[in-house]
Amino acid sequence: MSSVFTKIINREIPSDIVYEQDNLIVIRDINPIAKTHLLIIPKKEIVTVDDIDEQDRDLIADMFFTAKKVASNLGITWAYQLHFNVWKEWWQEVMHIHMHLTSNK
Ligand code: AMP
Repeated sequence: MSSVFTKIINREIPSDIVYEQDNLIVIRDINPIAKTHLLIIPKKEIVTVDDIDEQDRDLIADMFFTAKKVASNLGITWAYQLHFNVWKEWWQEVMHIHMHLTSNK
């Protein structure tokens, strides 16, 4: 079964899409914990950080470059936090790797 994020990527369910490129998408979190709360999501359905392997190097780097780019586009350069939740039993709700970008600016 595909993840909720794959369904968003495939336009099967709606989302507020901020940015998209060939290998990832950026959406607004449906339940924001900050004034700005984005999710940077690879289109490849990797479960969590523990499941990253060598062939994902460029993709993971692209997540960081994209965080920098969207932060700049939103005018929050130098004023945001990035985090990953990695704990299947509790913190991580969606089993499809994603980087949170939050800012109260
Ligand atoms: P995590 O706990 O790291 O797995 O975070 C998953 C995040 O995905 C949470 O902050 C949720 O609010 C968010 N989320 C879940 N479903 C959706 C959705 N359909 N659209 C946007 N964000 C979502």
